[in-house]
Amino acid sequence: MKKLENKTVFITGGLSGIGKACAFAAANEGANVAIVDLKSDESSKIIEELKQINPKAIFIECDVSDFNQVQVAIQKVISTFSSLDVALNNAGIGGKPSKIGDMTEEAWLKVIGVNLNGIFNCMKHELEQMSKQGKGVIINMSSILGKVAIAGSSHYVAAKHGIIGLTQSAALEYATDSIRINAICPGFIDTPLLNKLDFSKHKDIKQHLINLHPMNRLGNSEEIASGFIFLATDDSSFITGTSLDIDGGYLIQ
Ligand code: NAP
Repeated sequence: MKKLENKTVFITGGLSGIGKACAFAAANEGANVAIVDLKSDESSKIIEELKQINPKAIFIECDVSDFNQVQVAIQKVISTFSSLDVALNNAGIGGKPSKIGDMTEEAWLKVIGVNLNGIFNCMKHELEQMSKQGKGVIINMSSILGKVAIAGSSHYVAAKHGIIGLTQSAALEYATDSIRINAICPGFIDTPLLNKLDFSKHKDIKQHLINLHPMNRLGNSEEIASGFIFLATDDSSFITGTSLDIDGGYLIQ
């Protein structure tokens, strides 16, 4: 028996990087996968690939920073699959780097809108549905930068710290309702988000990021997907409100 057989798994930001790896890992465990992401030319190709693993896969176009679009996306999942068993709130952006004094209000609001309000928008509607069902699992994608800071990304650091607070608050509120809520804190992972730094022009930045990890490498998306499957299944049945560091030792230094 596969670990997510007949379960409906909702994944935001599922067309790229970590979210995409989690979508394929969930399908390989038998899940019906709903990928929620911005409009993309890649969506039909990725859904076709997922359908070869499990024919029950759909794409829903949605901006997670928009409260109403998230509500409609979750309604679409329920009308298609009748339940929402696991939600991975993963969509996120890096934002434009700058010191706080140089940061525009627009840059701040954009990152908070996607990375923090987006998580609230998803949890609000997911928890309404999971409360009706009397069960569910939520996993929020935070970061090592939800536990420590780096200079130049205060919007991102604030949002990722906020995700851990939201995760813990929700875990307490729903602990007796058979709804578990946890977070994942990846180290630097080799994905399109990280590659927006354009390593070809800044090889020294890539080496610098590698050096920050005691394991002396970046992580890969499949290593985050393994943690996601653990938290999504009954293998973690007594775990709620935690944040799982998958970071090559970054945070123990
Ligand atoms: P990625 O490859 O850029 O994937 C993120 C996905 O989210 C993309 O498909 C992106 O679409 C989508 N997205 C962006 N804004 C959205 C919105 N408003 N509504 C819906 N979807 C949206 O990034 P990743 O590296 O896999 O990151 C996934 C998550 O892990 C993020 O929350 C990130 O903060 C977190 N994380 C990443 C790292 C890392 O080193 N990579 C480390 C720690 C935590 P577009 O491509 O169209 O923008």
